Amino acid sequence: MPKAALQPVTDREAQANLKKSIFKPVPLEVIAQYLPSEKVDYLREVCGGRDPYVWGVKPRSDDSGRKQWEKLGIGDVAFFAAFGRAVLCGSIVLRHEDELLAKRIWNEADEEIGSFPLLYFMSDVKPVDFSKHFANRLMGTKPNDNWQGFVVKSEEVSAPLIRLADEADLSPPAPALDQFKSAIEQLLNGISETDRKGSALRRLEQGHLRNHLFQTLATKSCAFCKETFDPEFMVAAHVKKRAVCSLKERLDFENIVIPLCNFGCDDLFEKGYLIVDHAGLIQQGRSLEQSEGAKRRIRDIIGTNCNWWSPTREPYFKFHRTSVKEPLRKFR
Ligand SMILES: [Zn+2]
Repeated sequence: MPKAALQPVTDREAQANLKKSIFKPVPLEVIAQYLPSEKVDYLREVCGGRDPYVWGVKPRSDDSGRKQWEKLGIGDVAFFAAFGRAVLCGSIVLRHEDELLAKRIWNEADEEIGSFPLLYFMSDVKPVDFSKHFANRLMGTKPNDNWQGFVVKSEEVSAPLIRLADEADLSPPAPALDQFKSAIEQLLNGISETDRKGSALRRLEQGHLRNHLFQTLATKSCAFCKETFDPEFMVAAHVKKRAVCSLKERLDFENIVIPLCNFGCDDLFEKGYLIVDHAGLIQQGRSLEQSEGAKRRIRDIIGTNCNWWSPTREPYFKFHRTSVKEPLRKFR
């Protein structure tokens, strides 16, 4: 049975390295300059002629990194987790130690040759999306286990995570915009899609939008309450409902979503209790008859500026306003 390897990639170095060997594969011709030819032939074979994805582990002074890495076997699945969520996974086809190749792949500085020399190679990388808390619950591990350092779990404990990886569709990682676009286009052209494919696409699209807001733009505060949250408590919410967006609108990723928090703002916007007016001020939309708590939350926010509003986003906010059925009540 395959094992799950938990690979944190939150720090800045890891985020930079992701771009070099996980968001895109590493060319086999580069790998061939370092690995023995039988391993290169094996990689070519097992990856069906495509280039593999590569990640590296630090041995650490007490060899704890190496001990974990040595547990990795062919068919095990690495889960890449950043900011509290697993976002990508890849099936492992080979491990190999090589300081020089590590240095080459990640352009490491001369003085620290190959700081991630314990390499593992993956034939594919695909998006997943679940929180560490959810995964800990599935695995029956400590709820507050926050995935410090690279860890390979036992076969038994790994099983539910491996199932999640199996269910994830084989798709390119979220940041590949071209593939994201063509996947949506294919779906809209009705190329034999099924519900399963549709939901995989939705995950891919959502992954891309989240990536744009919370990694590319590093948005940390909610556009409504302006409070700062970790990305796991933030939502890339569609200003215009996704279901009624045209293809062009869905691809307008710089304007179609707004970063909102899970502590009320997303829900209040989605349900139309809060709207943004043509000047970018947050106003009350539908009125709320009961529940003092929600009313208080609304009162705290209305009349403040929505720092996400801009003229290019106004058409979407306008659509949201007009889709709110009840007559608008203006404050201030
Ligand atoms: Zn908020």
